[in-house]
Amino acid sequence: EEVKETPRIHRLDESVVNRIAAGEVIQRPVSAVKELVENSLDASSTSISVAVKDGGLKLIQVSDDGHGIRYKDLPILCERHTTSKLSKYEDLQSIKSMGFRGEALASMTYVGHVTVTTITPGQLHGYRVSYRDGVMEHEPKACAAVKGTQIMIENLFYNMIARRKTLQNSADDYTKIVDLLSRFAIYHIDVSFSCRKHGAARADVHSVATTSRLNAIKSVYGLSVAQNLIKIEAADNDPSSSVFEMDGFISNSNYVAKKTTMVLFINGRLVECTALKRAIEVVYAATLPKASKPFIYMSIILPPEHVDVNVHPTKREVSLLNQEVIVKKIQSVVESVLRNSNESRTFQEQQ
Ligand code: ADP
Ligand code: MG
Repeated sequence: EEVKETPRIHRLDESVVNRIAAGEVIQRPVSAVKELVENSLDASSTSISVAVKDGGLKLIQVSDDGHGIRYKDLPILCERHTTSKLSKYEDLQSIKSMGFRGEALASMTYVGHVTVTTITPGQLHGYRVSYRDGVMEHEPKACAAVKGTQIMIENLFYNMIARRKTLQNSADDYTKIVDLLSRFAIYHIDVSFSCRKHGAARADVHSVATTSRLNAIKSVYGLSVAQNLIKIEAADNDPSSSVFEMDGFISNSNYVAKKTTMVLFINGRLVECTALKRAIEVVYAATLPKASKPFIYMSIILPPEHVDVNVHPTKREVSLLNQEVIVKKIQSVVESVLRNSNESRTFQEQQ
């Protein structure tokens, strides 16, 4: 019998390593949009607009009116692990910005063509520069620019044939991008958002800065959602079990939907928490006669040291200390709020 030769171990080319890593950070067009919008929010923008062509595969363009990027930083902007947000590991515990790894822009340059146009306050003109594989393709060119930064990603996944094929065959990411912007828009109500297909006159998400969360929800999700919401609040301050504050809106018994919409922010981050979502769905199924799926907007604030933001490359999943206790408490508040509103409604109908 033939004995197989023992394989040699070799070091992968840096470009291969970078492309593989980039494909994990930027899984689909919507993940690129999320990173870009979070960067715009981190830059204190008050207006963020997104334009998308071909579900994001041809073009993603995010423009903001934030603090811009310094000319001197442009050469390292798209290198891996370059950031203005984190210096030492300990900072992670108290970090307020959404970014911190300095990986997003770099990743985009390994799987797409990135062009940045930016101007910093007090400058007469801005700069435009394109990047490939982490580095500038040329010296930044002076150009006219309005306040802030515009980042353009063209031909996403041009060098990842399999990824491009799967994405082309699957439903367009545009719906996911609209959904993402809708979520951001009802949390960051002091920022105006827009999202449109490139060249389209009409925006599919269009929010103007407001001080009322309900107004924001109305302008993004429509009156039929906004007029059927109940305010909800909960808090706990018992260090031996859980410490949190929660506020939000949940749909009442008049609201009808086949699918749950759960918009969840924990410490300012858009996240998903399946356990919490399930727990609330259970309450709706048990409490409401029509068993409609709920609309839920919820913001939870926890002590920063109770949240590990660094568990997932896309930062979507966060793990919470005392998660079970928190879920149980929120579940019981949802239950009593819902039951009260349902009873008062039934009572009114009987009058
Ligand atoms: P991170 O957000 O983790 O720092 P990124 O790769 O997303 O890493 O961005 C790298 C850096 O580029 C940021 O730290 C920030 O200084 C700068 N930057 C990116 N996008 C913007 C923007 N829209 N406005 C201003 N600065 C930006
Ligand atoms: Mg970032």
